[in-house]
Amino acid sequence: MSAEKMGSGGEMGRAAGSVLQRELALTDMLDPDTFGGVVDSLGELYQVGIRVLDTRGRTLAEVKGGSGDFCGYIHASPEGRSRSAALAARLHEGPLTPTQGARSVPGTSPLGGELLALPCFTGLRYLLMPVRWDGDELGRVVFGPFVPEELAEPPASLGELAGVDVARARELMARVRRLSEHEATKLVAHFAQVLAALLASGQKSHLTSQLHLEATLETQRELETQNAQLMRLNQRLKEADRLKSSFLSTVSHELRTPLSSIIGYSEMLSEGLVGGLNPEQMQFVRTITEKGNTLLKLISSILDMSQIEAGKVRLAFEWVDVQELVESALTSVMPQAQRKGLTVTVRMPQVVQPRVVADREKLRQVVVNLLANSVKFTPGGGRVEVRLSELGPQPRLGVSGYRIEVEDTGVGIPEDQRARIFQSFYQVDDSPTREYGGAGLGLAIVKSYVEGHGGRVGVTSEVGKGSCFTVVLPQEPPLSGQGPAYIPPPIDTEPDRF
Ligand code: ADP
Repeated sequence: MSAEKMGSGGEMGRAAGSVLQRELALTDMLDPDTFGGVVDSLGELYQVGIRVLDTRGRTLAEVKGGSGDFCGYIHASPEGRSRSAALAARLHEGPLTPTQGARSVPGTSPLGGELLALPCFTGLRYLLMPVRWDGDELGRVVFGPFVPEELAEPPASLGELAGVDVARARELMARVRRLSEHEATKLVAHFAQVLAALLASGQKSHLTSQLHLEATLETQRELETQNAQLMRLNQRLKEADRLKSSFLSTVSHELRTPLSSIIGYSEMLSEGLVGGLNPEQMQFVRTITEKGNTLLKLISSILDMSQIEAGKVRLAFEWVDVQELVESALTSVMPQAQRKGLTVTVRMPQVVQPRVVADREKLRQVVVNLLANSVKFTPGGGRVEVRLSELGPQPRLGVSGYRIEVEDTGVGIPEDQRARIFQSFYQVDDSPTREYGGAGLGLAIVKSYVEGHGGRVGVTSEVGKGSCFTVVLPQEPPLSGQGPAYIPPPIDTEPDRF
């Protein structure tokens, strides 16, 4: 059978080795149990033996009919046995043409090819029906033996076989069904009809299940290919990311050293260590120091982030007084806040907070980054407030801990941007003309440090009204008991909704 014959236009029809292009076999199309049952009942109905074989000579179903005793008797004679074996070979494997003792029966065979009659040396007869389906040779049906209607007596040659008594043979032959060739042909035609019906439905379900299987395999193959591609891409991305981090780390490291010298020398100049400066010179030198410090902060954040991304940042846990830490963070942003005319308030717990376990420097940086942002993104005259909660159960973490909130009356963050501001280098306004400085790393560092402590960070905000960043931290980070802990390289997760 070919793909064209199936009229398949789909992808499957063209695929090499598709089931539509493969030759069918009888075993694919017939369920052995069901078919065996059908052949048994038809054999009983006809009272004639039936054997169905595939093209490789394998028997798919067989029923003996009434000839068993007679054949058994002939087989008892060695010569009878060897002649029977030769006949069986001719019937089961011989050509399906009117040669080698076979004669063509008038009319066409119901399942294609020629219907053949084959005489047995005992006088009995077989019909041989080829099974063709959709142009494919699938096998054959051996029908018989039956006693031809015209046979009056067993041939005399039977008596010449050693150990065979003609009278006994005649007696046993009487149990074999007697049929005219015309009747036998009609029975074969009936059997062919049943077989054709079974083949049609068997072919349908075989093709359907095979096509389904092929489609599934094809999908699986496609998925495997895509998966392999994704893995390769992922690998490349990881490598590019690693190179970026290492490049940033090298560059910022190289920039820090000369920049520290610039700041150092400009400070020496402004302190008059190498002679006095006139007011204008003093103003210039102070600007150099100020801008140098801004640049140094920027470079330090790049270096910090590249270290985090490389998984090289270690947290050194110790007992920390958070109240003191928050106040110290506040002092580092106060000059800037005052310059902008912001009102900065701090609210501490009523009771003195017990100490907690944290990496002091990293936690300080978390608070400084949040406060620096609030100061930066709040217009003059606005308010910034930092609040430290009491120690208590933190449902979000499932352990005891505390919250630090930094609230401002600044520009606010649009809802659709809130998830992204914690990604490195992300800024809500990334236009070249943007109003606020920065590299977009402050919050990415905050998130990594907070999560490294086993905490969570989230934000609520309203555009034009202000923002509130909340950090929830455990009293004792889960990893703190096991010595210094490395912060895992960041993965993009949605920030918490507070
Ligand atoms: P940077 O401040 O250097 O741009 P961050 O990672 O600290 O980088 O912040 C990322 C972005 O998040 C900022 O560019 C800003 O758009 C927004 N953002 C952060 N904090 C605030 C805030 N308090 N008010 C308004 N927008 C903020």
